[in-house]
Amino acid sequence: MPRPIQATIDLQALRHNLAQMKSAAPDALVWAVVKANAYGHGIERVLQGLRAADGLALLDLADAERVRQLGWRGPILLLEGAFETRDLEWCSRLNLWHVVHCEAQIDMLAIHKTHQAHRVFLKMNTGMNRLGFTPQAFRAAWTRLNALPQVDEISLMSHFSDADGDKGISAAMAIFQEFTHDLSGERSLCNSAAVLRHAKDAKVRVDWVRPGIALYGSSPDYPAHSPAHWALKPVMSLNAAIIAVQHLQVGDTVGYGSAFVADRPMRIGVVACGYADGYPRHAPTGTPVCVDGVRSRTVGRVSMDMITVDITDLPHADRGSEVTLWGLPTKTSIPSAGVSIDEVASAAGTVGYELMCALAARVPVTVLDSP
Ligand SMILES: *Cc1c(COP(=O)(O)O)cnc(C)c1O
Repeated sequence: MPRPIQATIDLQALRHNLAQMKSAAPDALVWAVVKANAYGHGIERVLQGLRAADGLALLDLADAERVRQLGWRGPILLLEGAFETRDLEWCSRLNLWHVVHCEAQIDMLAIHKTHQAHRVFLKMNTGMNRLGFTPQAFRAAWTRLNALPQVDEISLMSHFSDADGDKGISAAMAIFQEFTHDLSGERSLCNSAAVLRHAKDAKVRVDWVRPGIALYGSSPDYPAHSPAHWALKPVMSLNAAIIAVQHLQVGDTVGYGSAFVADRPMRIGVVACGYADGYPRHAPTGTPVCVDGVRSRTVGRVSMDMITVDITDLPHADRGSEVTLWGLPTKTSIPSAGVSIDEVASAAGTVGYELMCALAARVPVTVLDSP
């Protein structure tokens, strides 16, 4: 028997979350962001669940080629654009749209030989200070691009640094407006947090939205709002089984460094999942888990191949019991069962994004879909 751990990818949940994004921005076209191998879910696995998206946004030419080979004929956007001039040949060949965020990328376009003019998304830096032209340099970049025969339509984009927090997007929005109001072209501004929190704001024009994390069922502004608040369903679940049970007396310890000390007689379940599976090593004692659909907590340090959970108050829990590390159980249908990836991430001092992306290759993955 293989080691009892498995991840499941639920395509119905993915379709549901995509529909939620569409209803949060009803007038927008949706770029489904599938960078980082679809946030760790596997591009090949999720593509069927994203058929209703208007385009796919990603970073790597190799991924763009993969989705073309899988039959995706719709738009594909390279979110960081070309890294070198040769990349533009791939853009021509695979019909990719690409971001232009710096002068060097315009230089590359100017010497690129193509029969087919490229659709580009010109990016403004509205305060994130990663990629994009400054507001003051934006118009000159637009004018230069517009004069190139290699360039077809120019769309205007930016990316918010604070769509998920208290600072919000109004300052960035005002800058974007001020420097683009008389430029033609479609606009693309909103990631998941901006779609959910700001897309209905009349000042935010949303021709194309770019949700990533929300598609996969994690809340972009946890803990302010849970996935359930935004009516998002977990796409990835990680489940494993208890492979041994230990009985502790008061004063007994668990795991490396004896980091957990029992202050009462306890039963401990040893679970076949560790940091080499993608479970965060920094998850402290008390991180939530579900055992046969009932909530409990981790105790002691996470090790490479195992974690230990408290089953003292779960008399039916035993070797073979299913432990949900995040997402939903596969074997129980208790309606409230499950642990959101955001709860686990937050306990470990990180975000749902990182946990999804770090699901290890050694974990077998099952795709759930209803025909
Ligand atoms: C990753 C990314 C997104 C998606 O962000 P989420 O927070 O996952 O919704 C949108 N736009 C750009 C430019 C990105 O790099």
